[in-house]
Amino acid sequence: MAASEAGSWSTYSSSTSPGRPADPLDAVVTRASPFDSGSDLAAFRRLEAAEHRSRFLSRASLLLDASLDYEVTLRAFADLVVPELATLVIVDVLEEDGSAHRVCAKHACTEEIADLFMRLPVGAEDLPITERALRGGPPELVADLAASPGGDSSAALALLAAGSCLTVPLRARGRTLGAIALLTDRSRPSYTAEDMALAGELAERAALAIDNARLYRAAQRAIEVRDDVLGAVSHDLRNPLGAISMCATVLGAAPITPPARVRELADVIGEAVEGMYRLIGDLVDAASLEAGRLSLERRPEDLMTLVARAMEMLRGAARDGEVEMVIELPERLPPVLADAQRVLQVLWNLLGNAVKFTPAGGRVTTRAAVDGGFVRVAVTDTGVGIPAEDLPRIFHRFWTRPRKGSAPSTGLGLAIARALVEAHGGRVWVESAVGRGSTFHFTLPVAAPEW
Ligand code: ADP
Repeated sequence: MAASEAGSWSTYSSSTSPGRPADPLDAVVTRASPFDSGSDLAAFRRLEAAEHRSRFLSRASLLLDASLDYEVTLRAFADLVVPELATLVIVDVLEEDGSAHRVCAKHACTEEIADLFMRLPVGAEDLPITERALRGGPPELVADLAASPGGDSSAALALLAAGSCLTVPLRARGRTLGAIALLTDRSRPSYTAEDMALAGELAERAALAIDNARLYRAAQRAIEVRDDVLGAVSHDLRNPLGAISMCATVLGAAPITPPARVRELADVIGEAVEGMYRLIGDLVDAASLEAGRLSLERRPEDLMTLVARAMEMLRGAARDGEVEMVIELPERLPPVLADAQRVLQVLWNLLGNAVKFTPAGGRVTTRAAVDGGFVRVAVTDTGVGIPAEDLPRIFHRFWTRPRKGSAPSTGLGLAIARALVEAHGGRVWVESAVGRGSTFHFTLPVAAPEW
């Protein structure tokens, strides 16, 4: 299929492409050669092929720039490549979490074969192998697929009457974003190094399209997050400010009787101010985490005391929500090497969420046990639970699940808790089932390992 194999490029051009609108420029390729024979003819054919190639590439570029939804773009890209450059094309994409998925498999004639390839495992060490390309490997050319073992894909390859195969990684800004596999059937010539070069150029353009679409999506998401956070922060500030303003009005209309009422108003103001400090603290912590500037003052601490203090801080919320708070710690626990204020913050976040997401009549239990050189703390609630699809994102910064009728929240609590625990050398994880409640676990290092 190289340009030098005269006409092989035009064999698969628009004339064999049912339904594709005629490209006036194709006339350049199909017109009669003004040369009779010999080296002039060969040079003419090379020129034709180069011309065709560059038109093909510019068509691909236009198409790849057309949408910011890269899956739509890659499917249109597959329509362009098949049958011009391949009998079958497969496009696999790596998600940001490292998982790979098949965006499309397109066959020149039958959907049945495309469906077969679509269902094959992505990233398996099977033919056509995108696995190595997905892991950042170089482009590969298999001249004769019939001579190679097919594994799971052998039935699909047989149905395709597979000839040769090209696999090219999709790379942009030094990162692998996916891979493309181009396959021919045996009626077509084998791929050559020139086809590989063309596929490489196409892959570069396709990778750029994916990268741009992802950057665009990330920018959109950042704008949404900014708006959500601004909404949550202004909400969280408006409530305590409203409370302070109300107290100021009452205090301004002196004299106030009985004197205990003054104490009550002062408490309301105190709580409102504490809430605002906490919110500002979360925002400052989030910024410090981002900049890697989180500092800890670690010394041996009694975990029992810290749990009791955190529970005390949340007693009012638990009483209002009619949630019972229980503590089940062994009689003796070794001291942990920790920054007391930061551990309190972790406990306060976990217990606060547990109380918030547990309906009236429920229970929140805090347990602890020694586990190797660590103390493992578990906060279990009998609350609403967390859907399985949310679990991987639950510790992400600014991630929250909006709840009907409840105040917006910043989604910073768990992200900060995780960063604080990890800064102590521990880890944090969650087990949950919708309707059955959640358990958040975290570990802290024992201060005296010989304990
Ligand atoms: P925020 O500080 O806004 O509450 P978090 O990071 O603490 O944010 O929590 C993020 C989200 O995780 C919550 O909005 C909620 O959807 C979910 N979540 C956290 N803890 C629990 C829990 N114990 N039960 C159910 N959902 C929870």
